[in-house]
Amino acid sequence: MINAPSYIGRFAPSPTGPLHFGSLVCAVGSYLDAVAHGGHWLVRMEDLDPPREMPGAAERILHALDTHGLHSHTPVAWQSRRQQLYADALDQLAEADLIYPCQCTRDQIRKAGGHRRSDCQQNTEGNSALRFCCEGAIESFEDIWQGSQRQDIREDPILKRRDGLFAYQLAVVVDDIAQGVTHVVRGADLLDCTGVQMQLFRALGATPPQFGHLPLVMNEGGQKLSKQNHATPLDDQHPSENLVQALGFLGFHCPQSLHTESPHGILSWASARWQRHQVDLRNRLLSK
Ligand code: GLU
Repeated sequence: MINAPSYIGRFAPSPTGPLHFGSLVCAVGSYLDAVAHGGHWLVRMEDLDPPREMPGAAERILHALDTHGLHSHTPVAWQSRRQQLYADALDQLAEADLIYPCQCTRDQIRKAGGHRRSDCQQNTEGNSALRFCCEGAIESFEDIWQGSQRQDIREDPILKRRDGLFAYQLAVVVDDIAQGVTHVVRGADLLDCTGVQMQLFRALGATPPQFGHLPLVMNEGGQKLSKQNHATPLDDQHPSENLVQALGFLGFHCPQSLHTESPHGILSWASARWQRHQVDLRNRLLSK
């Protein structure tokens, strides 16, 4: 029997737009941490929310990853094709009485203290969302880069939306369990979701992976680069330059000779030298 690797990492973009420098930094950071620990690195396309998706973005993202030498160890998983897994997980949670239908707006649930209101279940008219019961839940964990965290879960998260779509929080955890992910390395913008996700791992009978949240690449206006604020797409014509710049952000001092290396050569150089402690934790601009 072949032993499963002791480290499985992943990069899980949502196809709401093309990759930008912020996403490249996360992809490279998660890839290097996996490879440097002798692990596997998976790509999962989180195409779960068609109204927010941009036509062609998923293919552009996969092409950009390929051009930059970032190859998934296993075939890319597409969330749109894994709906049965999410439905099964909801059944498991329903059996354990851990979800409830709810029609509250965000405002209403907040005003009610963030958790199940006594009249939530009585109101069965119209479509309901399904929320995960987290009342009283507090998660403490050690983040690889952000250190000791203590998250008090103030609002029961939605796992299935009123429009019938499975929510990110559910699908991300179900897939991390199904794919045997042991380490989640991603951007610090997702740090606040981690406590909820750890609760969900446990509710589904799994041990949460280790989490590491990388610093964010900011724009001149002080916001994180994101598809929503129209960050410039990565230029696939210059993958080596892009990679060297992403490595600089992650704390590497790259020799001049690296600029003319192939993406594969650059990633091999970096994975042999990857040190978690060299990552500068400040969210900041990308310097040229
Ligand atoms: N799909 C999410 C995003 O693009 C990331 C999910 C994750 O890494 O947990 O923001």
